[in-house]
Amino acid sequence: MKKILIATNNKGKAKDFETLFGPFGFEVQTLNDLDQDIDVEETGVTFEENAILKAETVSKLLGIMVIADDSGLEIDSLHGAPGVYSARYAGEPKNDEANIDKVLSELLGVPEEERTARFRCVLAVAGPSVETVTFSGSCEGMILEERRGTNGFGYDPIFYSPEKGQAMAELSPEEKGQISHRGAALRQLKERLPELLDSLGENQ
Ligand code: IMP
Repeated sequence: MKKILIATNNKGKAKDFETLFGPFGFEVQTLNDLDQDIDVEETGVTFEENAILKAETVSKLLGIMVIADDSGLEIDSLHGAPGVYSARYAGEPKNDEANIDKVLSELLGVPEEERTARFRCVLAVAGPSVETVTFSGSCEGMILEERRGTNGFGYDPIFYSPEKGQAMAELSPEEKGQISHRGAALRQLKERLPELLDSLGENQ
């Protein structure tokens, strides 16, 4: 079975990719499945820069095609923060609950109409035989005043989707996929997949 490597340690992200690649007869691997420890420092200042950096670094190191995902939350009243720093907004070590607490305290007293925000996701595909390509998706919403729901990860409990009338963390994985930033980027990748897999088939 042919293998495709996703440059992530995040099991939630890996599951989304398995759903996409399984039907094409590809086994999805993540950095957790490798013998060596690969840690790419995310030095970019945009999601796109970081996604490309992760995909190209790992692809060059291993000589195979690699897909990377960089994503995060932009809050308008915080001038786009936490943005590319979403995963570690409250500092090291990475902690989703502490990140949420920090956002909620920074938005204390901010009225509903000024609590607009969006999730963004950029996927980068890099490989020895393909020019690096990126796909991006976003999802508009509002930051709630308190947590709602227990599904998902990251900022999902405080992100309200007007489209669904619920917090992200109240949605099933399928419902979230229909409206999420990652779902949107994955659907674009899916359209280009046959072409990308063709070049992969010849070289991997
Ligand atoms: P990355 O793994 O460097 O791309 O970090 C992305 C960070 O953005 C995650 O750790 C979460 O804090 C946040 N994030 C990205 N996508 C989502 C999502 O779908 N729901 C909730 N939080 C997300």
